[in-house]
Amino acid sequence: MSIAENLKKIEESLPPQVTLVAVSKTHGESEIMEAYHAGQRAFGENKVQELVGKWEALPKDIEWHMIGHLQRNKVKYLAGFVSLIHGVDSQRLLEEIDKRAGAHNRVVDCLLQVHIARESSKFGFDEKELEGVLQEGVLSSLPNVRIRGLMGMATFSDDPELVASEFRYLKSLFDRLMAGREHADILSMGMSGDYRIAIGEGSTMVRIGSSIFGERNYP
Ligand SMILES: *Cc1c(COP(=O)(O)O)cnc(C)c1O
Repeated sequence: MSIAENLKKIEESLPPQVTLVAVSKTHGESEIMEAYHAGQRAFGENKVQELVGKWEALPKDIEWHMIGHLQRNKVKYLAGFVSLIHGVDSQRLLEEIDKRAGAHNRVVDCLLQVHIARESSKFGFDEKELEGVLQEGVLSSLPNVRIRGLMGMATFSDDPELVASEFRYLKSLFDRLMAGREHADILSMGMSGDYRIAIGEGSTMVRIGSSIFGERNYP
C-alpha cells in the first residue's frame, strides 16, 4: 500500500479525540510530501539536525514534533519553530527550553516524558520527580513553556497485558497530575506496534512511523 493509503486507513481507525503524529524520521522529503498531499500536517522526528533540515526544506504549515531524547545544547536550534516537544525528561531541559523560547518570544508546548517501561534504556521522569517539576513554584518561573500533558513509551513486548498495564499507569498519572491544569490535554502514547492498546487505555495522541512509511531507511 502507498503512504497515502496507509495514512487513510489509520486515520479512519482513530477515534475523533486522537491526533496522529506521522513519524517521518529517516524518511525523505518526497515521502513526507506524499503524506502532506494526503492531508497530514503533524510530523515527528527524533534527531534535531534532521528535524531542522526538513523544517527548512518543507512547507511552513507543517507542525514539527520533537519526539526523541533532546539534549539541552540542541534546544536553541528548534526553539524558534517546534510545535510540540514530547520528550522533556528533566527540569534543566525545561529551563533551557524556557530560555530559548523566550529569546524567540514564543511559548513552546511541552510534554513531560514518564518512564513507564521495564527497559532502563528508555528515558523519563518517575512519579516523584514528576510531582516535583509540576509544583507551582517551578512552573511559574518558566513563562515560556507550557505543559500540555504527558508522554510515555511502553516496554517493547509481545505481551499485550504488560503494555496495557504500563499505559494504564501513565493514564492514571495523567488524570491525577494534569487535572485542572489549563491546556494540559495531551496524553501521547502509542506507536505502530501498540497504538490500539494505547487508545484503549486513553491515549489522545499516537506517534506512528513504520505503519505509514514502511521500514526505516537507516544509513
Ligand atoms: C520512532 C518513534 C516512534 C514511531 O515508531 P514506529 O514503531 O515506527 O511507529 C514513536 N515514538 C518515538 C518516541 C519514536 O522514537
